[in-house]
Amino acid sequence: MTTMRLGRLDVDIAPGQLTLSGRIDDAAHVGELVAKIAAGDVVIDTDGVTFINSIGMRELMRLVRALRARGKVTFTRVADVLITQMNLRPEFAGSAITSFHAQYVCGACGAEAAPLVNVAEHAEDLRWMRAPKLPCAECGKAMDLADFPERYLSLFKA
Ligand SMILES: [Zn+2]
Repeated sequence: MTTMRLGRLDVDIAPGQLTLSGRIDDAAHVGELVAKIAAGDVVIDTDGVTFINSIGMRELMRLVRALRARGKVTFTRVADVLITQMNLRPEFAGSAITSFHAQYVCGACGAEAAPLVNVAEHAEDLRWMRAPKLPCAECGKAMDLADFPERYLSLFKA
């Protein structure tokens, strides 16, 4: 495993797996990571990403394009800040995504959370751009998406 830091972004590279954590901004030249990643299929985990700006997004797209030329790219545990950006870019439509975070709110107790949405488990809802109800960690009642479904679910539209 290779570990490095690009600006305020922590990068872990393992066989078939790239893990990003922190901020993807002007200081994180993630497009250059392709030279350090072995050819073949790659799973990209962005669970720990807390911020991405437009330059970071452009760099990430550069990286994904390069990786796609050499194998399948799958996104897992996509950060909330990233999934909303991916939904704005047609290039990501139909991407392989196993799970992503989304902003939820509980109508019963008012708790807010960013739970992980499992794509395979909720495939039917997502196909119709319906945010699945998820259990509230505080009270156990069903939580609802706290935003417009389009911001999170356009990527999954059938
Ligand atoms: Zn609740």
